[in-house]
Amino acid sequence: MVSFALNGVGVSGGIAIGRAQLVSHATLEVAHYTLPASKVDAEILRFSNAIKEVQKELEGLHAAMTGGDVPGEFGAFLDVHWMILTDPTLSEAPKKLILEQRCNAEWALTQQLGILVEQFNEIEDAYLRERKADIVQVGERVLKRLMGKPGALPAPVAEEQTILVAHDLSPADVIQFKQHHYGAFLTDVGGVTSHTAIVARSLNVPAVVATHNARALIRDSEMLIVDGDAGVVIVNPDRAVLSEYRLKQTELGLERQKLKRLRTKPAETLDGVHVELHANIELPDDLAQTLENGATGVGLFRSEFLFLNRDSLPSEDEQFEAYRTVAEGMEGKPVVIRTFDLGADKHVESLDGLMRVAPNPALGLRAVRFCLAEPRMFLTQLRAILRASHYGCVRILVPMLASAGEIDQTLTMIAHAKEALRDQDVPFDPNIEVGGMIEIPAAVIAMDALVSRLDFLSIGTNDLIQYTLAVDRADEAVAHLYNPLHPAVVRLIGQAIATADKAKKPIAVCGEMAGEVSLTRLLLGLGLRHFSMHPAELLTVKQRVLTSDAAASKVIADRIRRADSPERISLLVDKLNAM
Ligand code: PEP
Ligand code: MG
Repeated sequence: MVSFALNGVGVSGGIAIGRAQLVSHATLEVAHYTLPASKVDAEILRFSNAIKEVQKELEGLHAAMTGGDVPGEFGAFLDVHWMILTDPTLSEAPKKLILEQRCNAEWALTQQLGILVEQFNEIEDAYLRERKADIVQVGERVLKRLMGKPGALPAPVAEEQTILVAHDLSPADVIQFKQHHYGAFLTDVGGVTSHTAIVARSLNVPAVVATHNARALIRDSEMLIVDGDAGVVIVNPDRAVLSEYRLKQTELGLERQKLKRLRTKPAETLDGVHVELHANIELPDDLAQTLENGATGVGLFRSEFLFLNRDSLPSEDEQFEAYRTVAEGMEGKPVVIRTFDLGADKHVESLDGLMRVAPNPALGLRAVRFCLAEPRMFLTQLRAILRASHYGCVRILVPMLASAGEIDQTLTMIAHAKEALRDQDVPFDPNIEVGGMIEIPAAVIAMDALVSRLDFLSIGTNDLIQYTLAVDRADEAVAHLYNPLHPAVVRLIGQAIATADKAKKPIAVCGEMAGEVSLTRLLLGLGLRHFSMHPAELLTVKQRVLTSDAAASKVIADRIRRADSPERISLLVDKLNAM
């Protein structure tokens, strides 16, 4: 077997050694197998049933819209999907293929979709040609039905560590790692702060993205070493390399063990400055890791993950249970629940057909914009959060604010939710604090209007960098331009902290920069006293805080704020870290 190495971008550290498991499409792994003649009729019936279930699904969506405030074009959109679904080219032709080829239903449908897409590609009329996207969407709905759980990742095949190799993975795919315990993952595409990378870090599994052609070069079951720190993948390693990495793996494990001793130690700099170290979580299950790593609060609960990988939206009660679990689990320590940041790369399956494909999703109907455009969904969440606030120290955090008007509208919605709960005698914290995320340069530049309306702030550096530098955080083609040390980024962060301090409002950083230990002293020097990060990074950052001098860091950070190039800033950061 040939041994070779692939380079990519390491987005989640650590070393994993295991066997490759290939996934063809992130959510749609389509198996191909031949059936015994006796199973063909049952397979055709299985296909017919899947079509009927999707018919019901579309009818349900249609009914849910009646009388609501959903724009009329969505109805027309669903009608088109209905027509496509019931057209014999989609609902009958695959049956013929199952019969003729004795293949499984998923494979028959995939082949037929390929034929239809080809036909559409040849149409000259641009509008009609674009309709092929509808055909693919309807086809994928049926595929998901056939495959059971919507968008389910295949379960790991072997007992030993399995390393998932895919062209791309959505955040919804990666969150399934929580159930399946893959050892690591590799993708051809992706950027450092894509949500996929973030979820991988929160799961504490090594991940390398932007390998370009891992999916094409690696074969199923090949032995792999994934070095998430170096961004390297070694395929079919020889014995010497394997033992070298096994040794490294053991050393890393020992270092982690040592760090555990810092769990209960307060995070204080050498010159006595106290620092809050909170955890970022996606689901209530992350609580265990949060407590294990000594977080003094949850600084960011990305609530939108409750909405992914499912057929329907989570109800108010279901959301309430999730928020209450976290609030109670943290035993009075603060829990900051971010209202759902859906849109962009976080696609809600249950809203398929209602969410239009935006020409530029990162600049489209995302986060608070989406919340305000879907008031019923937003109110349901606000009620659930308010109800949970009775069981702990809960705060509301609003993502992607650009203007004061968005806060005013959100505060009005919160007031409505409170009023309704009061009328129903449902207990909640009447003084619940409301904060805003600073993720858009406009929010920093005109922060005075935001700061006066909010109780606290949290800088989302992942998006702040993306929007300041106009670099898509998930696009590996421009990953080299995504730079937290760009002077514009550093100055915006410094300015946001200074504005909040002046207004005496607490401010945190909850983007990936907060968990990047090489940037801890820079942030301390810029005046940051509140960090929120993945639980797995908490103790490493705490160790750095314990060995830092906040006043000395400020002296160099002041020079960094005046520096005019990323290279100069990088040198000064090295100097800070060498202190
Ligand atoms: C951020 O943008 O930095 C942030 C914390 O939010 P998210 O990564 O979920 O967009
Ligand atoms: Mg963000």
